[in-house]
Amino acid sequence: MRRKLVAANWKMNGSRAANAAWLTEFRAQRSPCETVVCAPFVYLPQLAEALAGSETAVGAQDVSEREPGAFTGDVAAEMLLDVGCRWVIIGHSERRALHGESDELVAAKTARAHAAGLRPIVCVGETLAERDGGHTLQVVARQVAAVLARCGVAALEAGAIAYEPVWAIGTGRTATPAQAQQVHAAIRAQIARVDAAAAARTRILYGGSVKPANAAELFAQPDIDGGLIGGASLIARDFLTICAAAR
Ligand code: PEP
Repeated sequence: MRRKLVAANWKMNGSRAANAAWLTEFRAQRSPCETVVCAPFVYLPQLAEALAGSETAVGAQDVSEREPGAFTGDVAAEMLLDVGCRWVIIGHSERRALHGESDELVAAKTARAHAAGLRPIVCVGETLAERDGGHTLQVVARQVAAVLARCGVAALEAGAIAYEPVWAIGTGRTATPAQAQQVHAAIRAQIARVDAAAAARTRILYGGSVKPANAAELFAQPDIDGGLIGGASLIARDFLTICAAAR
C-alpha cells in the first residue's frame, strides 16, 4: 500500500513574513498525509527550522547536476541537505520550457540528487499540442525512459514522479480523473517492465490546477498517489484541505 504524498510547489513566491504566517496557519493543524513544502532556495533554512520535528519535510525546486565546485549560481545537492532540505523537484515544465532543460539533464539531476541522498520528485507531462496530436503517452514515456536509463528505478522509488500536463499547470484546467489515471497507469506499467515490485511501491503524483474542490476525486484514482500543488498551496488552509483529501 502506497502512502499518499502531497507536495507544495511555491514556485517563485514568498517572503520571510508571508512564509511565517503560512507556517503558523499550517502548523496549527496536523497534516493527515505525508507532506513536503518546496520553496525557493533562500527560504529553505527558514522552513527547515520551522518544520523541524514535524512530519512535513522541506524540498527545493531545482538542484545542480554537478558536485560542488566552480559553478557560479548553482546549488549542489549537498548544500540542500546541509540546510535541512530532504526533497527536490526536478524537471518541472517551467524549467524544461524556460531554461531549456532536456530529458538528459533532468536524468542527470535526478541521478545526482539521489546519489547525494535527496528524494527527487521528477516531473513529466505533455504540452497541449502534444496532447491534441495524440502523443501524450509517447512523450511521457520518453521523459520517464530517460530517467530510468540513467538512474534505474531506485531514484523514483525513493522519491516520486509527478505527472503534470503542461496545459493544466496554473491554467485552471485540470485533467479529468480518467485522463490522469490513464497516464499514471501507463507510467506505472513502464516502471513495472523494469521492476514490478518497485513499480507497485513508487508514488506517482498528479499536478495541474489541483484545488480543494477537485483533489478528492483525483486522489481516489487507483494510480494517483497524491499531488504536486502549485497555486493552491500558497494558501495554507487550501493546502491543508487538499492534504485532507489524500488521507
Ligand atoms: C505546479 O506548479 O507544479 C502546479 C501543478 O501548479 P498549479 O497547481 O498552480 O497548476
